Amino acid sequence: MPAPSFALTDRTALVTGAGGVIGRAIAEGLAASGAAVAVVDVTEDGARETVEAIEAEGGRAVAIGADVTDAASVADAVARTESELGALTDAVNCAGIAGGAPAEELSVEDWDQMIAINLTGVFLCAQAEARVMLPRERGAIVNIASMSGTISNKGLTQAHYNTSKAGVAHLTKALAAEWATRGIRVNSISPGYVETPMTTREEVTPEMRRMFEDDTPLGRLAVGSEIAGPAVFLLSDAASYCTGANLLVDGGFTVW
Ligand code: NAD
Repeated sequence: MPAPSFALTDRTALVTGAGGVIGRAIAEGLAASGAAVAVVDVTEDGARETVEAIEAEGGRAVAIGADVTDAASVADAVARTESELGALTDAVNCAGIAGGAPAEELSVEDWDQMIAINLTGVFLCAQAEARVMLPRERGAIVNIASMSGTISNKGLTQAHYNTSKAGVAHLTKALAAEWATRGIRVNSISPGYVETPMTTREEVTPEMRRMFEDDTPLGRLAVGSEIAGPAVFLLSDAASYCTGANLLVDGGFTVW
């Protein structure tokens, strides 16, 4: 038997939130595995550093500004990806926001914004991506959820965030079921705590951070690149029988 293939040679991928920490690591990981990558973030400027990092390693990438809550903007991003890099074969929907407030005080505006970006945004992106993939019966999509969609984080009051991420994991299963026989696999990754602005924001005190580390069997937060490997795997031919899966990449957090 030949070695399983994790290569993404001759693939064209789109990564949202790719100006952020996890999205950038994933975009760089896909490019290092052979894919040409559309680096999408809310502004084109926000995507540029990731493109420069990919090009510095000899990869091919383009920076695209798009708001994942706006269907027309997402459709434009897909069209630009195809015209500048080639037919879209792979996508990672990673854009997201965090936030916190006790549930009894959480405003409906904050709730709506969280759902619009973290859940509706993933739906709009997957829909636009599938619209070009389905006629070719070829594609793989990975949605970035969170372990917060499986557990509720001790010490954090973020009912809206947790709910949005549970939605992403279940949306992934629904899309996987609809598109399985039409050539598209859809999976989600649920990271645990990762070193990014989301976990270094003000409301995460040093005591809370220590608690995150203590509650994680591996004893530390992840770095962004530790989410890239699982994304490469799920997009690659090595994962040809994976669809509808929610891969927890959490240093063991959810085993306790
Ligand atoms: P980050 O803030 O570094 O990156 C998020 C990116 O999403 C930013 O570049 C931001 O500009 C972009 N974005 C926000 N709203 C957007 C919009 N409307 N349209 C387009 N882009 C938009 O944060 P990160 O930690 O790298 O988060 C990436 C993903 O990983 C998020 O979905 C997050 O929920 C998820 N996640 C993070 C952690 C963690 O511990 N950091 C854990 C689990 C899941």
